[in-house]
Amino acid sequence: MKKITIAIDGYSACGKSTLAKDLAERLNFVFVDSGAMYRAVSLYCLRNNLIVDGNPKIEQIIADLPNIQMHFEKQADKTSLFLNDEDVSEEIRSNAVAEVVSKIAAIGPVREKLVLEQQKMGDNGGIIMDGRDIGSVVFPYAELKIFVTANEEVRVQRRYDELKRKGIQSTLDEVRKNLQERDYIDTHREISPLIQVDDAIILDNSNLTREEQVDFVLKLIRELNINR
Ligand code: C5P
Repeated sequence: MKKITIAIDGYSACGKSTLAKDLAERLNFVFVDSGAMYRAVSLYCLRNNLIVDGNPKIEQIIADLPNIQMHFEKQADKTSLFLNDEDVSEEIRSNAVAEVVSKIAAIGPVREKLVLEQQKMGDNGGIIMDGRDIGSVVFPYAELKIFVTANEEVRVQRRYDELKRKGIQSTLDEVRKNLQERDYIDTHREISPLIQVDDAIILDNSNLTREEQVDFVLKLIRELNINR
């Protein structure tokens, strides 16, 4: 099968990364969780006191960008993200990071840096990337674009369960508040806001199982290949 590019966008905690990961496994494609990269920059900022009372020190963050290097490494059954050669895959999932990441992701030069890196990863096709601006900015020419949605209650419960599995304490209300805040900032920021592009196919997975949502996309890919 031709190594196409698949862009998956959508709101927070609607299962984009799970879908992207499952598809990558089935298709033997590269999977990239672009949100993890924004989380890694946020972690760097937290550790280096570049966020004060929840407010990013924008000028200093921009000046520090050359010191923030990251790369993904695929191990047996998982892909890890390294920030300046330290595996931060777990730490980037913390509540502290979730609270500030959308503010960091609204900074233009942060986006420019990460988008360039993401585009480089996609040079050879055969990639599935999930995020907020993948179909609109990173890979506007992707052969397949999916916009994932799920109702809020489902998303809150899923994220709550996921955090619990990882041993991170949170209440349902805290999770809801964080998702609402991030979705608001992500859809209202000036630079590359989360939008549903015209050529994206909507996938509402509120009532779908993990397998059903993968099957939905695999069917689209088969149709795409037939119609070429
Ligand atoms: O995907 P995840 O929820 O981990 O992303 C964390 C945050 O990173 C999002 O809320 C958003 O602010 C930012 N993000 C972004 N563009 C992307 C991916 C994530 O702005 N392509």
